[in-house]
Amino acid sequence: MAEKTAFIGVGNMGGPMAANLAKAGFEVVAFDLSRSAVEDAKRRGLTVAGSMAEAVKDASVVVTMLPAGQHVLSVWGELASLIGSGALVIDCSTIDVDSARKAHEMMAGHGHLTLDAPVSGGTGGAEAATLTFMVGGSKSAFAAGEPVLERMGKKIVHCGEAGAGQAAKICNNMILGISMLGVCEAFVLAEKLGLSHQALYDVASTSSGQCWSLTTYCPVPGPVPTSPANKGYMPGFAAALMLKDLSLAQEAALSSGASTPLGAEARQLYKLYDQLGEGGRDFSGIIDFLRGSPCK
Ligand code: NAD
Repeated sequence: MAEKTAFIGVGNMGGPMAANLAKAGFEVVAFDLSRSAVEDAKRRGLTVAGSMAEAVKDASVVVTMLPAGQHVLSVWGELASLIGSGALVIDCSTIDVDSARKAHEMMAGHGHLTLDAPVSGGTGGAEAATLTFMVGGSKSAFAAGEPVLERMGKKIVHCGEAGAGQAAKICNNMILGISMLGVCEAFVLAEKLGLSHQALYDVASTSSGQCWSLTTYCPVPGPVPTSPANKGYMPGFAAALMLKDLSLAQEAALSSGASTPLGAEARQLYKLYDQLGEGGRDFSGIIDFLRGSPCK
């Protein structure tokens, strides 16, 4: 396969994702505004263009992996007239649903196929090509994009029309933020009641309190040796990224009129935790904040 694929935004996630496409035989040309991202892309063996126009010239596929909605709207706005009609444009960033829908609309008049395809799996999943993609867009765009996404991930879910991928991502991460806080609170209460971490784990992990935040990402050291709690809460999934996703969920709740009181409270707690300068720790480290103990 030698389809020219432009990859715009080769930071922590985009770098390894672009490298996996190149390993799979795609002719990848990368572009990024950051010098360190460009150097890293070169170390990965990627060809790097000096401008976006050069990167996307004759590309049949363009993938963007950028920080936020404003970056995606600006890059897609430029792309619209730079690429040939019928090209496939996939955004893998995590952005707000309204911007994602706007981005699709912007391209619609130019005859391009478009997908929003945010990911879960973090940098580890990006390196190992084991990401999960949540995809929004038309059936024909999905059919064109699936073979590309399969080279960077192991599960590709078509969630619906434009914006549905972003909607699925923020709904899932709102569950995750709320459930992590619930699990943390239960451990804090257990400590006060003289119940050991292991005893609570052994009961809850096989009872109705069972959930991913407990059994895969247990926020106290010991019961799940691979969880970030055993490595000083090194991320993993940084609290600042959880705050970003919970904020996107609240924006979407506001604009759609959904009532999400627990999502709002979770966002507030992660905001306070982030304001303590702890945004770089794993999101399960919020247990220290809930205990009222200084974060280590
Ligand atoms: P990052 O900051 O490492 O990478 C983003 C890159 O985009 C940077 O290198 C930046 O220079 C580049 N960029 C910004 N504007 C640009 C432009 N106009 N043209 C070209 N390049 C431009 O961020 P990341 O960790 O790779 O995350 C990217 C997206 O993936 C974010 O939306 C994030 O929320 C999401 N995400 C991240 C993770 C994670 O664990 N890091 C997990 C899931 C989803």
